[in-house]
Amino acid sequence: MGYRPGNIVPQSGIYRCNKCGNEVTCVKGEPFPPCANGCSGNEYYLVRATN
Ligand SMILES: [Zn+2]
Repeated sequence: MGYRPGNIVPQSGIYRCNKCGNEVTCVKGEPFPPCANGCSGNEYYLVRATN
């Protein structure tokens, strides 16, 4: 199950866009950003959790 842009990040870590594969660092408690460069991907998946 993925996370959508605007959802609150439940766990700090590296997340990957389901469409373009772009990886972004997201911080717990902040909203997931829209993917870069007009990508229409709408789900992120956790790649690696960080502290
Ligand atoms: Zn993307």
